[in-house]
Amino acid sequence: MTETSAFPSTTHDHARCRSEALAQAEAMLARKKARLTPDRRAVLEVLLDDHQAQGAYDIMERIDWRGRRPAPTVIYRALDFLVSHGLAHKIESLNAFMACPHAGHEHRPMIMICTNCSQVAEFASTTIDKAVAKAAKDSGFTPRETTVEVTGLCSHCRESATA
Ligand SMILES: [Zn+2]
Ligand SMILES: [Zn+2]
Ligand SMILES: [Zn+2]
Repeated sequence: MTETSAFPSTTHDHARCRSEALAQAEAMLARKKARLTPDRRAVLEVLLDDHQAQGAYDIMERIDWRGRRPAPTVIYRALDFLVSHGLAHKIESLNAFMACPHAGHEHRPMIMICTNCSQVAEFASTTIDKAVAKAAKDSGFTPRETTVEVTGLCSHCRESATA
């Protein structure tokens, strides 16, 4: 089985999913001796609040800054940190970010985006990787980065559309 889909089911225990992801992120950063500063943690927590893509501006608005008003660069730097450590992915087509549910191992994300509810999910596909590698080799091209982003309807939205 090489293709796996990762849209959370409507009944999944998100409180648990969120706290596990946060604990995993902390453990992973501790191993790398990288620091989850309060700002980085605040951004990661907002990304983990749901399974939707969030732009830097939305993230800024959703953090409780307790009176202070940080510059947007604070958010961008925190996002850079999270992305470089594999804890978040940038979704190029939306100019938005998502928390990575498989933090801690190297992988190239392939992302499905529901255009109705804005949920995002990663999928793994070794066949796409292989196809890109072969096409690049055949044309003498050296790929640096492959971005796979697929828009459509998640299964929940598809069901409610036909109901
Ligand atoms: Zn969840
Ligand atoms: Zn990922
Ligand atoms: Zn949907």
